[in-house]
Amino acid sequence: MQLIVATRNAHKTHEIQQILGPTFTVSDLSAHPEIPDIHETGKSYEENAILKAVGASRHLPGPIVADDSGLEVDALGGAPGIFSARYAGKNATDKQNVDKLLGELARTGAEETKRSARFRCVIALAQQGELLGTFEGIVEGTIVERARGLHGFGYDPIFVPPGFEETFAELPAELKNTISHRAKAIAGLTAKLAAP
Ligand code: IMP
Repeated sequence: MQLIVATRNAHKTHEIQQILGPTFTVSDLSAHPEIPDIHETGKSYEENAILKAVGASRHLPGPIVADDSGLEVDALGGAPGIFSARYAGKNATDKQNVDKLLGELARTGAEETKRSARFRCVIALAQQGELLGTFEGIVEGTIVERARGLHGFGYDPIFVPPGFEETFAELPAELKNTISHRAKAIAGLTAKLAAP
């Protein structure tokens, strides 16, 4: 099955392809420069995922999915949340975002035991301008004091999932892709796509 992801973030596209496996052929908007970027003006992951999926599905045939996701740190009142991609500013790099988050956390004085956080992902599915469903996934974890590991993207180097000592960026991608927020949201998506 062909699936287009309404993103130009190659990391997300790659992870979604890895999670879905070879029965799906996943592509994204990097092959469609004519489609305008959709402004993430929503107040929730769900609103943003819907804006992106429905918006792109007005330009392209077939099922379109969009992922809106972020990291919620309890000691920061749930920040950066829906602003995760631009926490350190518009066009911020992953490293700038991670450095800002570690700086903010250090200022709160939160000990490692109080550095609870979660990744949340909402995937929206749309076709021809119509929303077909939304699917949420969450993975709980903690934030470490120093970035570790080279895999993944975004905040992976500072996020440790429950039951592990390694960060998502130290764990093999195959493992992240079975327990992550994105994997859980995609389980809902595949159930919907398999339904008659
Ligand atoms: P979005 O494109 O607005 O959904 O931005 C999502 C942002 O959340 C990314 O740019 C990352 O900073 C962060 N994020 C989402 N999922 C992950 C993940 O699996 N690992 C690390 N960071 C993530």
